[in-house]
Amino acid sequence: MNKVVLIGCGNVGMSYAFSLVNSESKVDELVLIDLNKEKAQGEALDLMHASSCSKRKINIKAGDYSDCEDADIVCISAGRNQEIGETRMDLIEKNLDVFKSIISEINKTNFNGIYLIATNPLDIMTYATMKLSNFPAYKVIGSGTTLDTARLRFLISEQLDINPKNIHAYVIGEHGDSEMIPWSIGRIGLNSVDKYLNKTQKNKILKDVRNSAYEIINKKGNTAYGIGMCLKNITDAIFDNANTIFTASTYIEKFKCCVGYPVIINRNGVRGYTELNMPKEELDEFVNSLKIIKSTINQIKI
Ligand code: NAD
Repeated sequence: MNKVVLIGCGNVGMSYAFSLVNSESKVDELVLIDLNKEKAQGEALDLMHASSCSKRKINIKAGDYSDCEDADIVCISAGRNQEIGETRMDLIEKNLDVFKSIISEINKTNFNGIYLIATNPLDIMTYATMKLSNFPAYKVIGSGTTLDTARLRFLISEQLDINPKNIHAYVIGEHGDSEMIPWSIGRIGLNSVDKYLNKTQKNKILKDVRNSAYEIINKKGNTAYGIGMCLKNITDAIFDNANTIFTASTYIEKFKCCVGYPVIINRNGVRGYTELNMPKEELDEFVNSLKIIKSTINQIKI
């Protein structure tokens, strides 16, 4: 029985939940928890009806923290969302309080599965989860720059009319304004990105990736489907024991922080990270992003 407990049934959480139900994911049981209990109950009912059209049987209910006891994955997407003009880092105080209250409840259970984190500021909340739960790093996975990488692949794919699956390029670093693209090691098929894109085009793509969330929030108030699918893909990699590479966020000892970096994910969580050999200019950009995450981590009280 593969069990997922979702905490935070807002736009992000429910996009994830719907992606799980509307696919052949190996989740057998899905439990919804929210501060707003009625919302969790309503969402559970709505999803149950959807599940009768689903290809696989999935048990869905609104639950409570005792459900974490035997869960394989606890996904947390609870907390405040960015308002127009806010950066992800602006959410830190409120969302740290939310995480302190949630994880202290989970700590009362014998939960021993994998934490999957979506709440912003993502790298900070992933680090906070590791500290508050006292879990080893490999069992705490933040969505990191998986969404940004999906956006990058979409934009390149649109520009070149090539399937996103053949675009092996990543966004790494903070899930935020300092994220960067190591273009030099990106590949389209087996060719270097430079064969297809010039500097102006690459700069425009990076700007568009970084601005995606701001643009969507300005237009519809939140972003949800992209992250819902990324969380679902990470969940699949865990239950399929797939050893899939994602630019997820996890604590990497060498960097002394949680950061979006290509890591291998399987049934146990994070198996390890892949080495990237970036030229100095790109490495400097990545190190700058690390500095921003680390200086924020040093300022928070957990
Ligand atoms: P939302 O406001 O729609 O939903 C948040 C939910 O959390 C609400 O239902 C609320 O009741 C619940 N909640 C708040 N405090 C809680 C608590 N203590 N216990 C249980 N539930 C609680 O927000 P959203 O649009 O779903 O965004 C959620 C988070 O995800 C935000 O921090 C947002 O910035 C982040 N996000 C991350 C990514 C990513 O790539 N990782 C992408 C989009 C959004």
